Amino acid sequence: MIPVIKIVAGVGLIALTFASKPEKSLSNGNSSWQPETKYSGSDSIKQLINTTKATKVVIGKTVKNRTISAYYFPGTSNKNALIIGGVHGSELSAIEVAKSVIDQLNKGEKPYYNVIVLPVLFPDNAAQALAKPEKIGSGENIGRYTHKQAVDPNRQMPTLGTSFERCNGKDHLGRSIEVENQLLLKIIDEFKPDRIVNLHAIRNINNAGFFADPRTDHHGFSLGFDTDSCLAIDMARFVHKQCGNVNGNRLPIRANATYPKDPVAVAAEVKQPRNINGSTLPGRRGQGVSLGSWATTAVNDSVYAERKRKAIRLITVEFPGAKRPVDYKTIELQQQCAKEVRTYASAIVKVFLADNYPEKVDSIQYTSVNKQ
Ligand SMILES: [Zn+2]
Repeated sequence: MIPVIKIVAGVGLIALTFASKPEKSLSNGNSSWQPETKYSGSDSIKQLINTTKATKVVIGKTVKNRTISAYYFPGTSNKNALIIGGVHGSELSAIEVAKSVIDQLNKGEKPYYNVIVLPVLFPDNAAQALAKPEKIGSGENIGRYTHKQAVDPNRQMPTLGTSFERCNGKDHLGRSIEVENQLLLKIIDEFKPDRIVNLHAIRNINNAGFFADPRTDHHGFSLGFDTDSCLAIDMARFVHKQCGNVNGNRLPIRANATYPKDPVAVAAEVKQPRNINGSTLPGRRGQGVSLGSWATTAVNDSVYAERKRKAIRLITVEFPGAKRPVDYKTIELQQQCAKEVRTYASAIVKVFLADNYPEKVDSIQYTSVNKQ
């Protein structure tokens, strides 16, 4: 069946729609994989998360008519997690990690968290990178931006502390948010993840690893960093124990969980500095609010009370190098990269999606104490 496509006036957003095409199991010998199920309309995510079996759905289409898929795996708790790959299409290894997460979830035990995996958020951009295989991982960054004037896809979020305005689709600097990011924001609105993994890859492999963004109230005052940094470090330790590269976490001694070049996390109740400058590009294309900053800032919208949400725990993953295993020249390097991909994915499945530092319902904070 052809997916139902609904264009939302003004912004070209394609609504969440789901096709009913049968889908084979992702892995051999597993019969739990269910056919795609058709959901549509504003309740689509609610319907999806009421399913009791692993489900793959098409959440929308890109400008170039490629489908954007989501994979849902029910967990054993009532808490939700979101895994996002391919925000930067040039970082093909990060997409491989997302696919390995799907594969491991498909074969393994139920996770603690109900989880949605978006393996390739910007498939048009990943296709640009794949079209020039010899340039994958090079400084040309082919596939990072949708086009030459496009804003960095990781710098298109709304103003910190405010909700996504579906009817105008503008980011913090008043620029149109790309269709793919609008779909992502809609999923965050409806699925309400307690925690997010944002999968990237980094050229300087000495900065690879797992990093936490500090959570704040909607005014930007810190809610405390301890459990966020512990979760990131636990994920890094998992990879480190298997001889993987998490050099950016400075294990085993310093155990750093702050993203390279980001302001350090401050104590609870103190105003948290944020980096909204990004990379230096003409036309401020590298500037704007990142997903890491926006998601970890609580929303307390004065106009739309129903859009309140707590600060979401968010781990940014930087895989060492953008190449997929197949892009390396020797078998040895290919095998080494494939192992690294599986190990990074296992850290997500076995540490991030397990019952580690679970978010308590009574810890939901829109505003930190004494700052209301
Ligand atoms: Zn990236």
